Amino acid sequence: MSASNPSPEPLVEGPRDPEHDPRAAYVLEPAHVARLTDRVLSTTGRTLPLTSPLDGAPLAHIPQSSTEDVAEAYARARAAQKAWARTPLEQRSAALLRLHDIVLDRLPEILDLITLESGKARKHAYDEALHVALTARYYARKAHQHLDSRRRAGVIPVLTRVDHNRVPKGVVGIISPWNYPLTMAISDGLPALMAGNAVVTKPDAQTMLTALLGAEMIEQAGFPRDLWVVVAGPGRELGTPMIERSDYICFTGSTATGKIIAKQCAEQLIGCSLELGGKNPILVLRDADVEKAAEGAVRASFSNAGQLCVSTERMFVADQVYDRFVERFVARTEAMSLGAGLDWEIDMGPLISEDQLDTAVAHVDDAVAKGARVLAGGNARPDIAPYFFEPTILEGVTPEMTCFGNETFGPVVSIYRFHDEADAIARANDGEYGLNASIYSQDGKRARELAKQVKCGTVNINEGFASAFGSIDSPMGGMRESGMGRRQGAEGIHRYTESQTVATQRVIKVAQNFGMSAEAHAKLMTLSLRVLKKLGRA
Ligand code: NAD
Repeated sequence: MSASNPSPEPLVEGPRDPEHDPRAAYVLEPAHVARLTDRVLSTTGRTLPLTSPLDGAPLAHIPQSSTEDVAEAYARARAAQKAWARTPLEQRSAALLRLHDIVLDRLPEILDLITLESGKARKHAYDEALHVALTARYYARKAHQHLDSRRRAGVIPVLTRVDHNRVPKGVVGIISPWNYPLTMAISDGLPALMAGNAVVTKPDAQTMLTALLGAEMIEQAGFPRDLWVVVAGPGRELGTPMIERSDYICFTGSTATGKIIAKQCAEQLIGCSLELGGKNPILVLRDADVEKAAEGAVRASFSNAGQLCVSTERMFVADQVYDRFVERFVARTEAMSLGAGLDWEIDMGPLISEDQLDTAVAHVDDAVAKGARVLAGGNARPDIAPYFFEPTILEGVTPEMTCFGNETFGPVVSIYRFHDEADAIARANDGEYGLNASIYSQDGKRARELAKQVKCGTVNINEGFASAFGSIDSPMGGMRESGMGRRQGAEGIHRYTESQTVATQRVIKVAQNFGMSAEAHAKLMTLSLRVLKKLGRA
């Protein structure tokens, strides 16, 4: 493994000086930081310091919100939503398309900030910007298809006109994680805005600046400022007051928190979508293109240092290709460029925090102590960055090891040999999660058939995760403990609407007519039902 920044010297020392640090001059010029942090709705006077995982340098002080601030955020959002719900779809679409362009125009600044704040490699920061732009364009272009009222069949055709309307829920609360700080903070909110809602969002404390840059771009695109209100603070303090005031909650994060949120939403009788954790498998079948599978496995396992909900942590490889695959996978992993910095050449950056590093170390140490073999990596690398952990491949992992069934959410993957495909599918389906899977095979048709047996919300064939995640027209989300509801596609926007049926009765009513007896009316209706069935009506 080569390290792009092998020197132990920090990339930035102490407070940033825009005069001398080109990165600070570009993104973290104090006026820009102040402009971003001003967007947090906060009256507490309290702030939380934010540092960069690249080198521990201070980035900003984030104002913290109180329960009262949350109440004010919802009051503002609710007032803004009333006017917004009356705006024509064309106006909303135009704003989304402007956001698409703004994201592409401001790319260098966006990528710098994501990398400084999360530590991830620039190429993975780019994936986020791409995902936001794709989501904005998709919902702008498909607004009419997903939101226009539809005519439905009435009780008696012709006599009843039925319109199925999509009415905005009102104010949507979004609680997002740190791992994809731009796209997780804003992409789920774009269909909410498109459908006529306002949003109150509480991004993760570790990546507030990126989320605030997202909010700034949303306003720049022409959405009214109070339509997207940002609060900041611990989820366990602000979560409940948000849920109490929301008409719908969109949550992305851990399964443990998802369950707490689901219970609170049930108390309020409001809907929620929960995008949660995973322990995602790849299956490499005997007819796989081994080189392609090894290349995909590296991206699937180590993108954003494995801190990706759809990341691969388990690989099941057919006996016939096992040795060749392992050799290629290990070689490609060892050839990765490791580093902490802003350039495009880095393949993997550091983890975001000490907690994340502790988990990766604990999982690998536990596995090794119980007999697992390390085929690549296995070590922390403080010489690269404080929370760096090498991309790690384990063999011989068994059920008593912590990393067998628990999500590491780091750059650690276990590799298993299989002899029988049915057994491989059963092992892939083992456990509580069901987020993402992939199958490598040169027989696409067979792989698609096998995919139906995999209990995951997305299955990629001959790709690790990007094909399914990037297919914005199709739903994405988890089965079992990986979540509830779906982002993207029609489901990704319909979750933010209430279905309303408006039935207009014409000429004669459905009930008894013209002094008809109840019995005669029943006979007429029975005859009508028989005729309608004969005519093939629904
Ligand atoms: P987390 O659940 O601890 O935190 C996520 C968010 O929830 C943060 O904003 C946090 O402040 C907030 N939060 C925490 N406790 C809360 C509470 N009691 N009430 C309301 N909000 C609360 O998750 P994390 O560990 O920071 O994130 C990593 C997890 O997220 C991993 O399990 C990962 O798989 C999952 N994830 C899933 C997806 C997906 O799309 N399925 C995407 C990204 C991350």
